[in-house]
Amino acid sequence: MDHFLYRAGRLWAEDVPVGEIAETVGTPFYLYSSATLRRHLRLFAEALAWGPHLVCFAAKALGNVAVLRLLGEEGAGADVVSEGEYRRARAAGIPGERIVFSGVGKTRTEMRTALSGGIRQFNIESEPEMRALSEVAVSLGREAPVAIRINPDVDARTHAKIATGGGETKFGIPLSRAREAYRTAAALPGLRVVGVDVHIGSQLTELAPFEAAYRKIADLTALLRADGHDIRVLDLGGGLGIPYTRSNQVPPLPAEYGEMVRRTVGGLGCEVVIEPGRLVAGNAGLLVARVIYVKDGEGRRFLILDAGMNDLVRPALYEAHHDIVPVAEPAPDAPLQPFDVVGPVCETGDIFARARLLPPLAEGDLVAFRSAGAYGAVMASEYNSRPLVPEVLVQRDQFAVIRARPSFDELIARDSIPPWL
Ligand SMILES: *Cc1c(COP(=O)(O)O)cnc(C)c1O
Repeated sequence: MDHFLYRAGRLWAEDVPVGEIAETVGTPFYLYSSATLRRHLRLFAEALAWGPHLVCFAAKALGNVAVLRLLGEEGAGADVVSEGEYRRARAAGIPGERIVFSGVGKTRTEMRTALSGGIRQFNIESEPEMRALSEVAVSLGREAPVAIRINPDVDARTHAKIATGGGETKFGIPLSRAREAYRTAAALPGLRVVGVDVHIGSQLTELAPFEAAYRKIADLTALLRADGHDIRVLDLGGGLGIPYTRSNQVPPLPAEYGEMVRRTVGGLGCEVVIEPGRLVAGNAGLLVARVIYVKDGEGRRFLILDAGMNDLVRPALYEAHHDIVPVAEPAPDAPLQPFDVVGPVCETGDIFARARLLPPLAEGDLVAFRSAGAYGAVMASEYNSRPLVPEVLVQRDQFAVIRARPSFDELIARDSIPPWL
């Protein structure tokens, strides 16, 4: 559910007409709904209300400091995968004790920053990383709380580029080596083993892969405890999918996910940490763009937008589908016709949709990509020297630019010419 609805013939974001924002900030831009973000976060908190828990929003899905501030004020923690995300979360006011640090390639510098700034736990992905963290902790005279990310070797049944729980991926330590890895961690100075971590992938549309993974984690937890480790936290990762099209099979709801978590690991008396990103932010965001031209090709009609693959890369990267809707509400009986919806970038892959059935659209019309809040703005680039698209946050009848569009002068000023030229 989201807060982008048609009323009185036009599309609204909560109580602000999308077209009015477009007049003020120009297109393209990302637009987020505070109410949707809050609602989705609460659904997870409610789903885990049966026991001690913390919802750590995956900052990589939508890292804007204003969004992190909003979610942090609702009680969320953050799952970060880089020093930049750690610093963003802290700048948003999220305390270190609500931040977990994930990722396969944490550098010693990143470890130092997080350990001295405050961190709930590091999710460790390899033995070399354990040793590095141990050295850093000892050098700072601190103890680093750690969970070890286990690769449970389950098929997440999602797009290959976002499946992370298979044995052939780079993520985590194989289940078969888990006990040995915990023994190693427990023996290293400066580390305190607190939990087990797992994250099997993103945009999962069924519970079965999660359930298979969590059962393995539950069994492992019992073994690790028998080995003498004080396992108190289970970090179960993120990954719950969202409906990108209305015709899609509807993915499980957070409540169903929470019940499954209770069924699989609820008996262990652990605090449960989850790291949802997409489900919190995905349907809380639109990318709003304007039609530059309607161009007739050989047997097809192109809708050329002012947004391109550099602004929203998911279709090019993952063959992802985004619903595209006109900002002016089409008449109920408006005839639909197929458009190839493309951007202005000089790449054949700069295509958002082929033969998409859309109501009549003309030069200058506004359209909105739905479900663009997660892995949208954060993956944008300035390819073709197109300035990063701005981000706007709506709350009821107010809106604010939460990241301004850089000017061309700013874009160019980031380059510098060496003295010998
Ligand atoms: C990407 C990621 C998440 C968030 O995944 P979603 O599918 O957005 O919920 C959570 N944890 C880790 C470790 C990740 O890499």
